Amino acid sequence: MHIHTSDTPTLASAGPKAHRLELSPFPELEYGDMEAYRRAEREICMLFQMIRDSRDMKVRQLNLKARAIKASFLALDPILARFTGPVCASCPTGCCVNRHGFPDYEDLVVFRALGVERADFDPTLPDQDLCQYLGDRGCMLERYQRSYRCTWFFCDGLLDDFEARDPEAFRLFEEGCSRLAEARNSFLTAYQTLIRSGPDQRGIISMHLTSLHSR
Ligand code: SF4
Ligand code: SF4
Repeated sequence: MHIHTSDTPTLASAGPKAHRLELSPFPELEYGDMEAYRRAEREICMLFQMIRDSRDMKVRQLNLKARAIKASFLALDPILARFTGPVCASCPTGCCVNRHGFPDYEDLVVFRALGVERADFDPTLPDQDLCQYLGDRGCMLERYQRSYRCTWFFCDGLLDDFEARDPEAFRLFEEGCSRLAEARNSFLTAYQTLIRSGPDQRGIISMHLTSLHSR
């Protein structure tokens, strides 16, 4: 799958609102800042350990919400593959660059929840170079292993072509995108709630805030 070269998702028809996270912001990860990237990974790893150790019933709900994200990705995958495959494979420009493959903080949280192991990302490589996850046959990652923005970035030509060729599949695609966005938002909201008000409240919150303030 390829992504648009702009930082703004072009999937207007699925409703930008559906993609927007109605949450307090997670920390920003700046491309190229290897130290911040590593710190975020360590922090999220520790927070998950603490969440799991807490034996809070909400942890089970969090796991179920994480599974719903993966299920939504898997349901969407064949539709996305069908409509991006023929067009992107013959695209003269392509648009998979490191900047887009770079995960943000929320992605790292979701990856941890899903137990995603992926080849380490090197954010010190030039951001506009071809994405380090791009292989001869397209992206080497499963869709749920990619940065979330990779799911939303399509050029207008691709979307127009898809809608014109198969309006019914396009409708299913829009519905699938909305379901995925809802599942992800629901998970991240539950995660934040647990972090901020879990049984081990003082420890989790102070750790989280300390790391946020040190950025
Ligand atoms: S067709 Fe569009 S989305 Fe696909 S690679 Fe080309 S520019 Fe990117
Ligand atoms: S991870 Fe990289 S190769 Fe894969 S879809 Fe995203 S930008 Fe393209």
